Amino acid sequence: MAVVGSGPAGFYTAYRVMTKLPDAHVDMYEALPVPFGLVRHGVAPDHPEVKNCQEKFEDVASSPRFRFIGNVSVGLCSRAKEQGMVRLRSLMQHYDAVLLAYGASEDKRLDIPGESTLNGIYSARQFVGWYNGLPECSSLDPALVNAQEAVIIGQGNVALDVARILLEDINVLRNTDITEHALAILSRSRIKRVHVVGRRGPVQAAFTIKEVRELMKLASVAFHPVDRSLIPVDLKSLPRASKRLMEVILKGSEALVESAPKSWSLDNCLAPSRFLGGIQSPEDVAGTEFNVMKLTDAFNPLSKTMATGQTLQLPSDVVFRSVGYKSVALPEFAAMGIQFDESRGVVNNDGLGRATQVLAIDQQTSTCQQVPGVYCAGWVKRGPTGVIASTMQDAFITAEAIVQDWISGAEFLRPKGDTPAQGWNGVRQDEGSHTERSVSWDQWLQIDRAEKQGGKELGKEREKFTNTRDMLAVIQ
Ligand code: FAD
Repeated sequence: MAVVGSGPAGFYTAYRVMTKLPDAHVDMYEALPVPFGLVRHGVAPDHPEVKNCQEKFEDVASSPRFRFIGNVSVGLCSRAKEQGMVRLRSLMQHYDAVLLAYGASEDKRLDIPGESTLNGIYSARQFVGWYNGLPECSSLDPALVNAQEAVIIGQGNVALDVARILLEDINVLRNTDITEHALAILSRSRIKRVHVVGRRGPVQAAFTIKEVRELMKLASVAFHPVDRSLIPVDLKSLPRASKRLMEVILKGSEALVESAPKSWSLDNCLAPSRFLGGIQSPEDVAGTEFNVMKLTDAFNPLSKTMATGQTLQLPSDVVFRSVGYKSVALPEFAAMGIQFDESRGVVNNDGLGRATQVLAIDQQTSTCQQVPGVYCAGWVKRGPTGVIASTMQDAFITAEAIVQDWISGAEFLRPKGDTPAQGWNGVRQDEGSHTERSVSWDQWLQIDRAEKQGGKELGKEREKFTNTRDMLAVIQ
């Protein structure tokens, strides 16, 4: 089986398939020279315990039936010129099965005036990638040094990660694996006030209690009280998790708004309508205008919103839009008979991870057929939501479908009983020079050791390489 992507979805599916089918061999293709997807480039640096899943992935990689093929992107033109690229067609020819587990590498946009033209507006994906050493974001250098007011648009856990990194004591961050280039800028940041803005109220927000609690506990960071009318007086009317979350929000922080050097707030019922440039520097963002919304059913977690006709502006020296990640189709999908649902940003599948083609849709139902041997898992299967644990559950469901199909003798990419699939050797023959710079697991371990050594010198867990060239340079 070829696996496209080395994040949690790829590793957990590989693990389950290899456990249940003792003859299964897995080749894992990863666009970067380094594995682990968002566990490395998404999870916040001050959450090292979340990265413990890497130990499981290392276990999987130690099997003689597993091969890591890093620095080789499947089907997408590489962003770095040192990176290899192979066609999906080639994988489909040389494996029995292909698992698409390549996550969500783009971000959703707001599509409002000023978003693409003004300086100082970043996606949370770029900012997170920047402080976590994702090569394509390493040159972001967000304009924090002269900024005091930050606006984060979105109220999910990623938005709270961004808020925490902006507000956290720099000495706490120094002990994490945050990149040195991010530390250099964050240590000069003058951000004093962070607005975390949502279209709806706190009851409808997507963040979870752990992330809110962490923000409330930051020393010297105050929380501006939330609009009390958006939370029911009788908290018992809420589901248990929501009730506990509202208690934390109502309790707020120990630091006082009047005296704390930094503060943050949840700004609710605001839908962004345009960004405004400054008077002195019209090319830089200086404000965000919002339509003031009202909830149709304030305490219902599924409440919708209506515009009130009023607008409100927030000063914004810097803006982060955190409205979600987005998966994209690989260019060869159509030619290979794989359908991609552009509106949901997922590979069409039967919910169990089998890629499907919709043949016909009538008013009530659609007729689908399976694309033999092609599967999907993780964010590219069910959309860019969910934590590592839910991605694992989802990967196990896909693995079960693969195993069942194999045992039941279903059709795969190659005729059953043929000579064994050529796998990587076949792909290499087809793709020639595009595979020359591939990185094996042992070579990744060399990069890993070099990063840890670099970190040791700085008193931290690791100092990540932030570009492909430097990663490849340490490979002997
Ligand atoms: P990914 O992890 O994105 O892995 C996809 C991999 O595919 C990447 O390595 C990518 O480089 C590779 N790839 C992409 N295109 C190609 C291609 N064409 N060819 C080859 N390889 C390709 N969950 C938690 O449990 N706790 C947290 O604290 C937490 N924090 C998060 C913070 C952020 C900012 C984000 C965005 C997510 C966070 N999550 C957290 C969620 C968690 O990271 C995801 O649930 C999980 O990583 C999704 O796994 P995946 O394998 O589908 O995708």
